[in-house]
Amino acid sequence: MSSSNFKPAGSKAQGQVDSDLQMVPYWSIVLAAVVFCAVQYMFFVLMPHRHNEVLAFRLLMSFTWGAALASYVLLLGYVSVDVKRRNMSAKLWMLVVLVLPGGIGAVVYFLLRQPTQTVCPGCHSQIASSYNFCPQCRYQLAPVCTECHRSVRPTDVYCTQCGHGLVEDHTPARLRA
Ligand SMILES: [Zn+2]
Ligand SMILES: [Zn+2]
Repeated sequence: MSSSNFKPAGSKAQGQVDSDLQMVPYWSIVLAAVVFCAVQYMFFVLMPHRHNEVLAFRLLMSFTWGAALASYVLLLGYVSVDVKRRNMSAKLWMLVVLVLPGGIGAVVYFLLRQPTQTVCPGCHSQIASSYNFCPQCRYQLAPVCTECHRSVRPTDVYCTQCGHGLVEDHTPARLRA
């Protein structure tokens, strides 16, 4: 494959950084702040005050509950974005995370989630972004050692697995450092 058919969409590292920055959507950050404030309101305004109560205890309880519920909202926001990268049902998984108590839904989600999906720049088919080559058109998505075919970093001079000199490998220019 000649380096003339260079397409920047194949750059895996760049896509990873971009998507990680947008993993927690804006609405869930706002909602988390609202939930946190609502919990404080509940503890300090709505709950009856007794004369002999300890203020520190109430502060601790309100902060703990507020932080716990707010992180639940952020988690839900993360899942809502993450499912889209993995071709999974957003409605189903957000419901699972929301309904199963104490974060069990989230644990189930992280155990069962599919690998992230990407589009092959060569043939535009949906593939897992962990692949080194496209299973449909053999487009090279990541640098590999030509001797042992394991993944290598673009900056490596020798393969860490078999010691093969990577400089002689004819890796497409778009995958070199
Ligand atoms: Zn392909
Ligand atoms: Zn090797």
